[in-house]
Amino acid sequence: MTAIYGIFGWPVAHSRSPHMHNAAFAELGIDALYVPLPVPPERLPAAVQAARLLDVRGLNVTLPHKEAIMDELDAVEAQARAIGAVNTVLRDGEKLVGTNTDAEGLARSLREADVNLQGARVVVLGAGGAARAAVVGLAAAGASRVTVAARRRERADGLCDAVKQAVECELTACDMGVGLPGAFGECDLLIQGTSATLGAGEGPEQFAAALPMEELPESAVVCDLVYKPLQTTVMRRATERGLKTVDGLGMLLHQGALAFERWTGEAAPVGVMRRALLGK
Ligand code: NDP
Repeated sequence: MTAIYGIFGWPVAHSRSPHMHNAAFAELGIDALYVPLPVPPERLPAAVQAARLLDVRGLNVTLPHKEAIMDELDAVEAQARAIGAVNTVLRDGEKLVGTNTDAEGLARSLREADVNLQGARVVVLGAGGAARAAVVGLAAAGASRVTVAARRRERADGLCDAVKQAVECELTACDMGVGLPGAFGECDLLIQGTSATLGAGEGPEQFAAALPMEELPESAVVCDLVYKPLQTTVMRRATERGLKTVDGLGMLLHQGALAFERWTGEAAPVGVMRRALLGK
């Protein structure tokens, strides 16, 4: 019988995850179908119960449900609790278990690009959900220090407080205005985790222009989690300075590959999934 997988979101029609996972199922000859499932916020509890009863084999979860779904599941894994968000749901018999593959997905995408994470000094821009996953993922991958920089200092402090029990590295917060020059001077890896580089126009240009990129060491790597566009204004500035860059598509790909592996127990066909994400 065809196994059903899907993604909960609102809206969800734009998601490339069905393309990526259906291509992977086809490549491995697995009889399964992955469908977009539009779920309005007030229907989330009913939708989770429906997935349980209809024997849906696995789910991805996107905006706006990544936090709220934690209350609807039978269990949530420790790293997802630390991140405060679930992006993947697994089945354990009758139970639905929440996990988060964003953090490890980012670490895998950086390793794939030959970025050394062991002992790395990391600066993360932003204090939202993506930044929080990055902090937890990079700390788990061996970073020695993570500095969280936000335009509202209290948001950076809040993020550090929320994850401090779950991470072993040195964790500090700073203000994106005054704190950045010092933090950039001692940075091996800069993660752009705000939504400020999304799209085109004056906003993304001004955001990138205000960053003290000249303070970054020549060996620093710059990764923007935003993948629309693939080459963001911050990545362009890094390239102009001669720094190595990693785009956000890798994190999207590898969070999907990790979810696929948890669901099926098979190694994910990453090349096929990447081409499907790019619409090739
Ligand atoms: P959130 O809305 O949770 O957080 C956005 C963060 O960006 C907040 O800290 C916000 O600050 C900050 N921000 C927005 N505009 C500016 C600005 N002009 N200057 C400084 N800070 C700014 O979003 P997410 O964390 O979920 O996602 C962030 C981005 O990461 C998204 O745009 C998304 O494209 C990308 N992403 C990529 C993934 C991948 O797989 N590659 C996965 C998830 C997200 P404040 O709180 O002050 O508003």
